[in-house]
Amino acid sequence: MQALALFPGAREISRVERQEPALDSPDAVKLRVLQVGICGTDREEVSGGAVRPPEGLQNLVIGHEMLGLVVDAGEAVTRVKPGDYAVFTVRRGCGRCLPCARDRPDMCETGGYSERGIRGLDGYQTEYVVDREKYLVPIPPDLKETGVLTEPLSIVEKAIDSAVRVQTTRLPDALLYPDWLHDRRCLVAGLGPIGLLAALALRLRGAEVFGMDIVDTETSRPRWLAGIGGTYVDGRSLRPDKVDEALGPMELIFEASGVASLAFSLLDALAVNGVYVLTGVPEGNRKVQIPGEELMRRLVMDNQIMLGSVNAAPGHFRMAVQDLSVARLRWGSLVERLITLRLAPDASGDIFHEHGTDEIKVVIQWDGA
Ligand SMILES: [Zn+2]
Ligand SMILES: [Zn+2]
Repeated sequence: MQALALFPGAREISRVERQEPALDSPDAVKLRVLQVGICGTDREEVSGGAVRPPEGLQNLVIGHEMLGLVVDAGEAVTRVKPGDYAVFTVRRGCGRCLPCARDRPDMCETGGYSERGIRGLDGYQTEYVVDREKYLVPIPPDLKETGVLTEPLSIVEKAIDSAVRVQTTRLPDALLYPDWLHDRRCLVAGLGPIGLLAALALRLRGAEVFGMDIVDTETSRPRWLAGIGGTYVDGRSLRPDKVDEALGPMELIFEASGVASLAFSLLDALAVNGVYVLTGVPEGNRKVQIPGEELMRRLVMDNQIMLGSVNAAPGHFRMAVQDLSVARLRWGSLVERLITLRLAPDASGDIFHEHGTDEIKVVIQWDGA
């Protein structure tokens, strides 16, 4: 079968042949791949050529954001049957630490985990994939157009859930509310797919959402944000240290830009007792100057929390499926419009290198639809 792979050191995607996988245990499920999203992680792999192929192989099949159709299932599989939609999660445990033993490799302590399509295990940019049922998340048929967004949304769900849980344990009034985020003022920094999905999840929880980026208001991402009731903030005309003055303090800040200078200067906009969650991974090693003493004083004196979040647990995938279903009821086809480009596998070359301002999510269509 065909697959899109990367050789270590190469900066171009190669089309390779892989043997079609078969069920290898009673709890294995085989999916025909329908769609696979491309994200910053894929582009970073391709631009840096820094991939670790599976043992004994010369290259790594990339892709970790997928949607598939069940075509075969072992006799011990109970949650899906052929014809059902499903996704596989990404990270696989190290086998040596407690979080991994608890099926929470997103919290792996050793760093010895693998990731399908990223680190040591073939990914999903191919025709068929097999994995164990415990790594599978069923997708309802009404999400066949948006189910491919489950993985990126799972990243968002973990980050928001972590922030909310932290606040619930420490704010005197937080436990009084079943829906703490309702009417909270939240700022999302960086309106790529993760930022826009964060805005979506926050809006579904009733938050007032401001989304910051540096593109014109009349482009696809600010317009999409407006469609779900968010307010666009142009970071070119409103400096991070003026956000507080212009819009008021933010009770939650969701950072999805990967830009360290922006991330730290936005601390200025964080409210007293506020929570700040970082999900962007900077690409370089540039040094950033920050007013360290002032930031430290503020974190202490204002009871603020800054936390990082990566990857997601199976439960966060299920939250993502829930939110995609609710979003569909709330906003109809608007969610599908996050996918701005669908390409055939053999037309996908340049898309790993360049992307336009109006692009949101690019998806490789393996089912030829
Ligand atoms: Zn991704
Ligand atoms: Zn581990």
